This record gives sequence, structure tokens and C-alpha cells, in this order.
Amino acid sequence: MRVLKFGGTSVGSVANINQVINIVKNGAQDQHIAIVVSALGGITDLLMQAGTDASNKDDYNTAFKDIEAKHIEFTRTLIPDSDEALDEIKNLLKSLESLLQGIYLINELSPKTVDKLLAYGEILSSSIIARAMYAQGLDAVRKDSRDLITTNDKHTKAGVNYKVTNSQIEYYFTKAKQKITVLPGFIASTANGDTTTLGRGGSDFTAAIVAAALDVDQVEIYTDVSGMYTANPKMVKQAKPIESISYHEAMELSHFGAKVLYPPTIVPVMSKNIPIRIKNTLQPEEPGTLIHNQNGQSTNPIKGLSNISNVALLTLEGGGMVGIPGISKRLFETLSNQGINIILITQASSEHSICLGVMEDDAGKAKNAIDEEFEYEISLNKIDPLTIEIGLSIIALVGDQMKSHQGISGKMFSTLGKNNVNIRAIAQGASEKNISAVIAQKDVKKALNSLHERFFEAQRKQLNLFITGVGNVGEKLLNQIQQQQEYLKKQLNINMRVLGLSNSRKMLVDESGIDLQNWSALLDAGEPATLDGFLDHVVELNQRNSIFVDITANADVADMYGKYLKQSVAVVACNKIAAASDFKNYSELKRLSKAYNAPLLFETNVGAGLPIIDTLNNLIASGDRVNRIQAVLSGSLNFVFNNFKSGDSFHDVVQAAKAEGFTEPDPRIDLSGVDVARKILILARESGLKINLEDIENEPFLTENNLNSSDVPHFFETLKEDAAHFEKLVAQAEAKNCRLKYVAQLDNGKASVGLQEIPEGHPFYNLEGSDNIVLFFTDRYPTQPMQIKGAGAGGDVTASGLFADIIRTATF
Ligand code: ADP
Ligand code: ASP
Ligand code: MG
Repeated sequence: MRVLKFGGTSVGSVANINQVINIVKNGAQDQHIAIVVSALGGITDLLMQAGTDASNKDDYNTAFKDIEAKHIEFTRTLIPDSDEALDEIKNLLKSLESLLQGIYLINELSPKTVDKLLAYGEILSSSIIARAMYAQGLDAVRKDSRDLITTNDKHTKAGVNYKVTNSQIEYYFTKAKQKITVLPGFIASTANGDTTTLGRGGSDFTAAIVAAALDVDQVEIYTDVSGMYTANPKMVKQAKPIESISYHEAMELSHFGAKVLYPPTIVPVMSKNIPIRIKNTLQPEEPGTLIHNQNGQSTNPIKGLSNISNVALLTLEGGGMVGIPGISKRLFETLSNQGINIILITQASSEHSICLGVMEDDAGKAKNAIDEEFEYEISLNKIDPLTIEIGLSIIALVGDQMKSHQGISGKMFSTLGKNNVNIRAIAQGASEKNISAVIAQKDVKKALNSLHERFFEAQRKQLNLFITGVGNVGEKLLNQIQQQQEYLKKQLNINMRVLGLSNSRKMLVDESGIDLQNWSALLDAGEPATLDGFLDHVVELNQRNSIFVDITANADVADMYGKYLKQSVAVVACNKIAAASDFKNYSELKRLSKAYNAPLLFETNVGAGLPIIDTLNNLIASGDRVNRIQAVLSGSLNFVFNNFKSGDSFHDVVQAAKAEGFTEPDPRIDLSGVDVARKILILARESGLKINLEDIENEPFLTENNLNSSDVPHFFETLKEDAAHFEKLVAQAEAKNCRLKYVAQLDNGKASVGLQEIPEGHPFYNLEGSDNIVLFFTDRYPTQPMQIKGAGAGGDVTASGLFADIIRTATF
């Protein structure tokens, strides 16, 4: 004997019903098969809609017509030549229409009538499917479950009388002549013959009741996914089917929202040790999930994650609750009398407050009943009126083995914290099979995905980039990302995606990742860009491991960092403005980065792609002390002084540097030393100094005349006028066999920048082109400094520095 159940989506289309018939045909032919079917997909909801409309004296006919059309179409297609079948279905639909008319007239929809109404879904579907099987040559007959399953009269979620039910089922199947019996799921009846239902999703339960009564080897539940997954596959793309799971684990997962199995289903089969196999109707070859009496240790103590949406948190609080016995009893009794299901309970050890999670729909009813029950205490101000918070969800981590593993809740909460998911309440079952947390509805997807990543994909981390500024460097970065995506997945287990792009005109956001081959055209077709608009998108997408990448030189963009960090979004910048801004701002950003667990990285601020700041941070972290830093940090100044020899025109050399693109559009920014001063300021701050730009000694080598020039052309004029000044500088150096280098220095807590005469043999002497060099003199490198040297400017190296910072965020 086999028991198979097919859910609503499995019988939601003619093609799917044919697939169901194939599965049955391909099954063992030598044993009896009981087939439990749900209503055709979506019909139960439509019936409820029609009933509600009718009872509100609204138009119920629209919903009814949909129901009617679907069933008639299915009947005509699946059983084309049978007037008998069509008559039967039309008669059923007629009586359904009369029932709706009745509801309309009396203006009322009691739970008893709801059951009568919803039952039509399964009555109709089982009639059509049994006849379709018969028409395709199967020895199939329909049997009404209401004759087999007897319940009490708790309408809409009736309790089963197993004694009566089991003997009725046994009796029927010992006598059954046909090989295949098609049973409507979900419906049952009272001893008096009134129709009842087993609760929404209850067809699974019907199959389990039948299986237990007949003591079969296994129940097979066919649905639209390939088993019970590590998380709802509609929310977590990376979720995978669980191969094998214990009854208790499956029960916890379904209790906390894994809709794939109706929670009470486990009860009848568990006591008889009958396994449940969950399979996919459209992919029956896949193994699916086995739910059974599993004792074996599995490698992962966590089996799955689940979530329930639309939860309300009720809090009963008040000084008068402390030490008074019976408050909880009264509270729970009150809710139980109202038929309200409590999903989660937490109580502070001070007994000052009790927090309960219930479905949002029950919250109003709960408040009225509780405030009434505690009316006296509330009037004496001993207890506050019940507070209700809505818009919440419960997420739960489930696994039998959690109790023997430490640190799981720690990991759970730190993962949520890192991703800025605020936790409103926490509960852990005493059996330690689950840990659940109440969070805002809007955070559910992010929470599930980050927890899934943490517990099931330990190896792979997704980085979600939002990039502002797609000029030369930005373009190079996008190329590098595109080129390295596969490598990162394979070698570093990092899935790097670009979800947002913007320039000063346009912005583009795509939750599933922007196609990097086509980003430029896509961005052009994007929406008008605003800084706050871009931030809003990032916040709204609410993705884990989000990173804002600033590749502009814009002060307004730098002003946004705080807002991103406060959302736990990491910031990676090659823009120097924030790190070189007023110390108060710099340290506030550092504080936010720590408080919100969001990395703030700006390696490319100094020396482009050279690992200068990272090395400095590592030296300090390892306990070394930086005593002195000496560096050449300006590619443009290096270019200028490498090309300026005695007898040359300084004016011409600077002009050439500008033409080659080595200087800022206004060369005074480079030549005045401001840019270098910013860089040494950043290194000084990263070494632990609390200093500002004004604290950096800057002895200019330009003349007053140069510095006071009114604009760039005038500046170049003054360079010509003061040619003798520059000739003198270079001639003096050459006379001492020295070369001129623009040097930044940090010594004994004092930072300075200025032109220096560098003697032969010094590490700076042979610095070429636009290269940068940094020397770190530390306790561990006292005389021979640690040196970092290489190209200090250029699109490709700057992009690779940004790339490195992005990767660094993954290990944060
Ligand atoms: P049926 O109509 O076959 O009874 P349901 O819609 O009741 O199907 O249940 C299947 C659905 O349950 C899936 O499509 C999926 O969206 C949802 N679901 C939620 N959590 C899980 C999970 N952990 N594993 C599998 N499916 C889940
Ligand atoms: N048709 C019912 C429902 O939608 C029962 C089921 O499908 O399991 O709730
Ligand atoms: Mg279901």
C-alpha cells in the first residue's frame, strides 16, 4: 500500500495533472495506492475571497466565475468525452453558488460555513482527478474523506478522533476493489456529519492520517519544490534540499514557517515511525527529503532556517507583575480561550514583562481580551495596558544537534548584528532544537540570506557593490571585477556582484546584479542620479555585505559616508576628502565604522595601489611602533623633479607634466604640497596621531609670486618670471651631487612636507618617473626601514587598490 499526496500547485494546471497521472502510472502496479489531492492551485483562496465578499454584501460573483471557469475548463480538457463528468462538476458548482447566495443573504460567514465553503475546493479537484485517471485507463475511484476522517467540531482546524478514523480507514481499504483511491485532502466531518477542515495546508495531514491508519512504509508528499530546503527557496536562492531530517527538526521548521509541510502532519506518522518523503512533482527523479526517526550525527548541527511573516509582539509589563504568581497563567488562558495561537514566548528574569509573538491578525483580539482580563490591575496602575508592535517576523534556526554545540546563538546574533538587523526578542526552546528571533519584516530576506551564508555556505561570501564614479578608474575597476569574478568564486569563495552604479548624471540599481559587459549603456538608460536617491536604493535593497565604493573626488559624496556606515554598509574610497577632513569628522567616521561593524577603507588615498595603509595597520596591530615615516608620495612632483635639470626651464617641465596628465588640472594643488600634506596627514592619523592639516609643516618651494597667482595661466606666467629662483634650487642641489625630491615626513609626532636635497645612495635618489616610495622606521625596523615602492598613480593600479580593499571587507 502506498500513500501519495499532491498539493495545489501539483494539480494547478492540466499539464501538471497529467504529470501526476504519469507518476502514478509509473509507480508500482501491484499495490494499492491512496492518492490525496489538494484543491486546484489557488482555489481555496478564491473560495475564501468569494465567501468574504458575499458575507460583506460585496460582489462575490467575480471570484465565483473564476472558480467555475477553471473547473469546467479542466474537466473538458482532461475528460473530454464525458457528459457525466461535466454534469457532476456543474452540479457541484451550482450548489457552491447557492451556498454563496445563502452567505450573501444572511450576511454572515461562521467558521462552520467556512468549512462547508472551502471543502468545495477538494471535493471538485478529487472528482476531476479521479475521473481523469480513470479516463486514462487507471483503475481509479474517488472516495470522500469525510466518510473516513471523523473530527470534533472545532471548525476550520478540527481535531481528529483517531480511534474512529483509523477503523473507518482500515475498513474501507480492506474492502476497496479498485487499485487506486483518490481522496480529497483537508476535509473531514464531525460524528454528526457536518463538514470540517483540518486547517489551511491540511492536505498533508490527511495523507499522514491515512498512512498511519494503514501502517504503510512511507508517505510521499509531492509539491512544487524538491524537498524541504535549508531555507525557503523563494527567499534564499542558495538554499538546498535537505537530504534527511528528523521528525522533530521537520516539525520545528514547519512550525516556524516552512510551509512545505503542515506542522500537525508529523504527529500521526511519528508515533508509528513511518517516514515522510517530500518530492517534486515536476522533477520526480530528484531524491527530495526524507523525514524520519533520525538519530545519526550530521556534520552541520543546523538543519535549516525558517521564518514566519506578519507577526505581532505583545508585551505585558508593569511593576505589579513582580513576584505575583498566576499572571502568566491568566495571560495564556485568556489567549487560549480566544483560540489564539502563541508562536513565541519570552520573559525577562525580573518578571517585569512578558513578551508574546502571535499572528498579526490575532493582535487586536488579543489586546481586547487581555486588557479586559487585567482591567483591575491596569486601573491600579500595577500593569500597563498591553502594547502591540506589528510589522515583525520570526526567524528560527533549527537542528537537533544544536544542544551539543556551543556558540551557535553567538554566531547567529553576531551575523545579524553585522548586517544591521535589529533583534526585538529572542527565544530558545528548552530542548535547544531551535533558536528564534523577532525582527522587522523588512529585514527578513537579508537576515535569512546572511544566516544561510554563515551556516550553510561557510565557504562562499557574497559581496554586493554600489559604485559611485565610473570615470577612468571606475571603468578599470569594473573591468577587473568582470574579469576576476570566476577566479574569486573558485579560489576565494567570494561572489562579487555590482548591484548599483552611478555617476553625476545617472544611477542604476539591479538586485540581481548589473551585467558588467553592458554597464555603460545600462547606466545611460538609468534614472537621474542623486546622492540620497542612491543611498535610498542601497537601504531599500537591504543586502548583506553591501559596500559603497567612492571613486570620485567629490566632497558631497564624501559627506555621505556616515549615512552608509550607519546602515552597516561598508565604505571603500579612493576619494581622499573624508580621511583628510577635520579630525572630528575623521574620528566620527572611524567610530561609526566600529559601532556598525562596517569597514571603512581608503588604501588608495596614499600611493594608489601600493599597500601602504594596510601595511601600517598591520605593523601597529602586531605590536610594532612606528617611529618615523619618510616618503615620496606625489607622482606629479616626482615627475617634475626627475625631469628638471640645471639649465632647463621649470615652466616647461611643469607644462609637460600637466600635458602628460600627471598633475591636477590646477597644478598649484600639487606644487603647493597640499596633496602630499593630505597623504602624510592620513598616514599620521593611521599611526594614531590626532592631527589636522594645519598641524603639518609645509615649507613651500614656490615663491610668493607663484602662490599668489590669480589663475592657472597667470601661475604659469609667474613660473617664467621666477625662473632664476628654480634654477638656483636645482643648481645648488647638483653642486652637492644631490637630487631634489618632494618629501613627506613624520618624525616624533611632527609631520612635515617640503623639497629636500637627496644625496646619492639614499633610497629616494633613484626614484623614477611617477613612482612613490615609503620608508617605515619602526621598533622592529630601526635602521633598515621597511620599504614600499612602485607606481603611485594610474588608473589600473588605483583600481587594483580599490579591488584589494573590497576583498578586505570580506575578511572583516
Ligand atoms: P503544496 O501546494 O504542494 O502543499 P505549499 O505551497 O503548501 O505546496 O508548500 C510548498 C512551498 O513551501 C514552496 O513552494 C516554498 O515556497 C515554501 N517553503 C517555505 N519554506 C520552505 C522550505 N524550507 N523548504 C521548501 N519549501 C519551503
Ligand atoms: N487546499 C487547502 C489549502 O489551500 C489545503 C491544502 O492545500 O493543503 O489550504
Ligand atoms: Mg501545502
